[in-house]
Amino acid sequence: MPTTLLDRIGLLVTNEPSYGSPPLGEIRDAALVAGDDGRIAWVGRSADAPAADTRMDAGGRCVLPGFVDSHTHLVFAGDRAEEFAARMAGQPYEAGGIRTTVAATRAATVDQLSSTLARLLAEMRRQGTTTVEIKSGYGLTVRDEQRALALAERFTPETTYLGAHLVPDEFADRPEAYVDLVTSDMLDACAPHAAWIDVFCERGAFDADASRAVLEAGMARGLRPRVHANQLGPGPGVRLAVEMGAASADHCTYLTGEDVDALAGSDTVATLLPGVEFSTRHPYPDARRLLDAGAAVALATDCNPGSCFTSSMPFCIALAVREMGMTPAEAVWSATVGGARALRRDDVGRLAPGAGADLAVLDAPSYVHLAYRPGVPLVTDVWLRGRHFGAAPRDLTESGDQPG
Ligand SMILES: [Zn+2]
Repeated sequence: MPTTLLDRIGLLVTNEPSYGSPPLGEIRDAALVAGDDGRIAWVGRSADAPAADTRMDAGGRCVLPGFVDSHTHLVFAGDRAEEFAARMAGQPYEAGGIRTTVAATRAATVDQLSSTLARLLAEMRRQGTTTVEIKSGYGLTVRDEQRALALAERFTPETTYLGAHLVPDEFADRPEAYVDLVTSDMLDACAPHAAWIDVFCERGAFDADASRAVLEAGMARGLRPRVHANQLGPGPGVRLAVEMGAASADHCTYLTGEDVDALAGSDTVATLLPGVEFSTRHPYPDARRLLDAGAAVALATDCNPGSCFTSSMPFCIALAVREMGMTPAEAVWSATVGGARALRRDDVGRLAPGAGADLAVLDAPSYVHLAYRPGVPLVTDVWLRGRHFGAAPRDLTESGDQPG
């Protein structure tokens, strides 16, 4: 791959505080070079930019690290638009809605699941997302969970085994037997295709003891823990996540002071998913409280057909700023390096030599526009490991000439 200079960046977000103004390490009138290995080779002031094989002109636009969407459920079939409409007409959201998607997913072919997944990933990339975590959890049989993960791993290394999403109907009168399955034969089939183990620790799903058993079994097979915690009400999920050393506790909508202190005193990231609260009319998590306590916060979409069918990280940033008390800079940090921390990655979410050349170009002078102009498709271009994907008709101008 040739080296590429991206020049005349109006505002570059590096997420390296030593490079520029905190917390995002901003550099004005910047440039960046992607090396032939798909990694960042150089960042700095435009005036100091080295030569490269190809030069692209950002025309004064803002460039930031590609978004890291650390929580999605993209392997599914079916549509729940009518359930959404009913909810907006006043019906409550309950975890049991997942069953509708389980039935449709089991009935779908791998080709159908694959084409939906590919379409959603392309939709995400057009909106600036360059790293995606994908969970299983709509199969809930050995065969269906295994094929979901085998499919997901074709698209991302960040695959999560979520057999413990819900107790399926056929185990309704013996949930302990389902936990046994999740921690034995199903785990055997899924572990080779998964990096992470997850559990929906919630009233109506899995209690603290069952959740601990699921996480311990996965960890014994080399999977790393993350937890769906405290989404629908207060509960033990967050403290269990911290106790188990989970990379992330996800949702964190209903937190006690002890939960906040536990997160702040740990390296478990609090991953907030405000698209869910938007789509279920639940109260938003209190990001300000977590940040003020010193917890690391990530933002992710939770893209799934039931509780939140957005693929848009810019939308989540806008919600976080408007509804959860985050500043635009905090929200951008959480959607990039925050997500990277929730996946224990240091090669994504920042733009510095050695990191992946994964970035988003905004048709805007500043990242503040992500919240200031909600719903507007500002991402014009995306680089994935140095490969350029134009996302809008107004493409970056490209030439082999060096700047004069
Ligand atoms: Zn989820």
